[in-house]
Amino acid sequence: MPGTILITGCNRGLGLELSRQFVADGWRVLATCRDPDSAGALKALREQYPLLEVFPLDVTDSRQMAELGRELRGRPIDILVSNAGYYGPKGVTFGHVDLDEWRKVLEINTLAPYRLAETFCDNVAASGRRVIAVISSKVGSIADNGSGGGYLYRSSKTAVNQVVKSLSVDLRERGISVLALHPGWVQTDMGGPNALISAKESVAGLKKILLDTGLENSGRFINYDGSDIPW
Ligand code: NAP
Repeated sequence: MPGTILITGCNRGLGLELSRQFVADGWRVLATCRDPDSAGALKALREQYPLLEVFPLDVTDSRQMAELGRELRGRPIDILVSNAGYYGPKGVTFGHVDLDEWRKVLEINTLAPYRLAETFCDNVAASGRRVIAVISSKVGSIADNGSGGGYLYRSSKTAVNQVVKSLSVDLRERGISVLALHPGWVQTDMGGPNALISAKESVAGLKKILLDTGLENSGRFINYDGSDIPW
């Protein structure tokens, strides 16, 4: 049975593809992005599917998030997807780290998913499915780090994994499942053209996980193909 899904960062990449696949299946999609006016592909999708609603949201803007929380108060959200993300400057090596950029990466990838869960957990608790998912990354896995570097992005995803784990414990009594998901290495602006899979393929896998999951999976770090990723 289709329900309602809220997704951040929907103007391009995985957020756009998540919006496309869920709305095509009859879901009501609450799609957020920083600048709806310039989000051409999302606007075109909205014209095709009246079930898609677009809201402005910079995930680092606490006031704007609180406003959206008030606007959506009382509306059940079956699946909340924290997708918006930022890699930061690429190719940064030891000795050349920009701390202001690091703070920005942490604001977007770590603090914002926490704040999103805090803002919308009542909406999720009031729904039938009760799922919160954070699009994390395998490069946040400490066990998987054999190549070093990537200080900004790696640390932000490792930290958000810990946020997911705590949320899974704290929100269990409200029946909410919380997952960290790795989308694969995906051909988006972030993943680049050499990435291994298309956004379509990644989202098909993520969608299956989001639709099949329940409390038994809460607190897991899951690859788009359904396999577990070591923390
Ligand atoms: P992308 O193509 O670079 O898109 C990033 C999205 O995040 C854009 O919609 C962007 O909006 C949005 N965003 C960035 N900062 C924001 C902010 N402050 N407020 C609201 N939205 C913001 O990246 P993607 O590949 O689709 O990545 C989606 C998620 O998957 C991210 O969390 C990423 O870390 C994760 N991931 C991706 C890969 C991969 O291979 N692609 C692998 C592992 C994990 P603007 O257009 O306004 O900047």
